[in-house]
Amino acid sequence: MATTEQDKPVVVCVFCGSVAGENPAHIQAAKALARAFHENNVQLVYGGGTNGLMGAIARELVTLSGPQAVHGIIPQALVKVEPGYQELNSKEKEEGGKVQEGAGKTHERTVRLDKRTEINETEYGMTSIVPDMHTRKRMMATKVLEGGPGSGFVALAGGFGTIEEVMEITTWNQLGIHKAGVVLLNIGGYWDGLIDWIRNAVAEGFVSKANGEILVTVTDVNQVLPKLKEYKTSVDRYQLKWGQE
Ligand code: AMP
Repeated sequence: MATTEQDKPVVVCVFCGSVAGENPAHIQAAKALARAFHENNVQLVYGGGTNGLMGAIARELVTLSGPQAVHGIIPQALVKVEPGYQELNSKEKEEGGKVQEGAGKTHERTVRLDKRTEINETEYGMTSIVPDMHTRKRMMATKVLEGGPGSGFVALAGGFGTIEEVMEITTWNQLGIHKAGVVLLNIGGYWDGLIDWIRNAVAEGFVSKANGEILVTVTDVNQVLPKLKEYKTSVDRYQLKWGQE
């Protein structure tokens, strides 16, 4: 029987802080989002961090749904600063720095951590180690776009990395590169400044009113998946033809 769009798993990419921040509400939101993913059979794609909000959402979902529900995608350079990868780093050294190649892939090095460090696979799910940030972002987006209806992107609280990722993926939507939903989870008013900025950009005519709604804001974790499911593209998106971004 042929696979239809409906049969494909829902894949959601979460952008979030590599640290936990001062307000425990953010860690709680990360864990609650993992529970919502588990209850709705959603697969997580994320930046592959083992600390902060990233580590919290990955660990929680692996605990609930198993390692196959979580895919971390991390550039080689960041592996060096992530404590959860230290064991992998020392094993690599012992084995002469060899990294297992992913089948048929030339632009990335994919490592299934189960053979190398049981701790990582069982705690953080599957990990792909890629050469650079651009490869990582493209791969994160591709995984979402290969998912079934309701797949999309979510931002929890975070720093420069998070805001840059959520703004880029919002821009890609406006440019017509993809049509997946992008949801900003605004816990404790964390993103109020960004929401104000969008409002002002619309008022000043730098973003159209319709495109100002590309980034959907929610304040409750349980609104994230329904918003992605019912997401409608802006009538003002650019209808452009793109290659592989
Ligand atoms: P930030 O918000 O600055 O903490 O950055 C978090 C975002 O940037 C995540 O969504 C990741 O994709 C990426 N990132 C930044 N730092 C790291 C790290 N140490 N390990 C993995 N990903 C990171």
